[in-house]
Amino acid sequence: MGRLAIIGVGLIGGSLARALKARGLVDEVVGNGRNEATLRQAVDLGVIDRYELDPAAAVAGADMVVVCVPMGAMRAVLDSLRPGLADDAVVTDVGSAKGSVVRDAESAFGEVPDYLVPGHPIAGTERSGVEASFAELYRQRRVILTPLPHTRADAVARVRAMWEAAGADVVEMEVEHHDEILAATSHLPHMLAFGLVDTLSRWEGAGEIFEFAAGGFRDFTRIASSDPVMWRDICIANRGALLNALKRYRDDLDGLIEMVERGDATSIESLFRDAKATRDRFVERLENREKGARA
Ligand code: NAP
Repeated sequence: MGRLAIIGVGLIGGSLARALKARGLVDEVVGNGRNEATLRQAVDLGVIDRYELDPAAAVAGADMVVVCVPMGAMRAVLDSLRPGLADDAVVTDVGSAKGSVVRDAESAFGEVPDYLVPGHPIAGTERSGVEASFAELYRQRRVILTPLPHTRADAVARVRAMWEAAGADVVEMEVEHHDEILAATSHLPHMLAFGLVDTLSRWEGAGEIFEFAAGGFRDFTRIASSDPVMWRDICIANRGALLNALKRYRDDLDGLIEMVERGDATSIESLFRDAKATRDRFVERLENREKGARA
């Protein structure tokens, strides 16, 4: 790759730049964001080679443009980078919901350009910002691309090759399917973690509750330390699929409450056994995949 433009040099964009630079796969990385001090820090850390404060200037002459801003900023950022795009540029994004990116692109460009490949790396941590970025973030992780029927095959191939070079395993999926799956596996658990911590923090004697909370509570609530603005945006961007997931969960929670009310030990144990078996299988599959990728 000649020139790579990273719009939003935080955890996700910074880690991609680091991965590609570490493997010597890009001649120059140009960064863009709102905050010059952060961009200067990104240069000092060696994550980007230089920066431009104007998105259109940042993408000028870039072969690949990766938009890594919070979902709520996507529409305005696509609009502002549009005038600077080179004729042969490929644009992709990393947003955690894809339907809203497609709508934002339609609104910014008039129609979704055939060189825009919506994407989503299934990788991250609860930390944010360029200082949290690291080159290995995408190793053995999945990246989902959700090209539209008219997306150019060569653009998809270039985005796929970029993520594979960063160590990721790339799969393709339809936009709506992506949003349903991610609502269940990522967005719902984040709502539950934020919601649980919020509920307990407002209980009488909250100080004591947190004083006696230990490792299990920390594991369950780790993702409630994620960036509130990013998660606010994801919640709004994928609200249709997320609402379905939240309501299904609420119905099942009502069922669990009834079992506890009835003192129905058999049903409670059966639910716990099924859940344990499912989680054990999930962890085993994940570990096997990671071992396979390392071999
Ligand atoms: P992050 O660490 O907070 O980085 C976001 C970057 O975007 C910052 O460098 C910020 O810099 C810049 N930015 C914010 N608003 C902007 C705007 N209006 N115009 C231009 N730049 C702007 O967040 P992240 O974790 O990398 O997440 C970025 C994207 O990746 C989000 O869309 C998120 O949904 C997606 N994603 C996140 C994860 C995860 O686990 N973190 C995983 C997969 C996908 P300035 O403040 O200087 O502008």
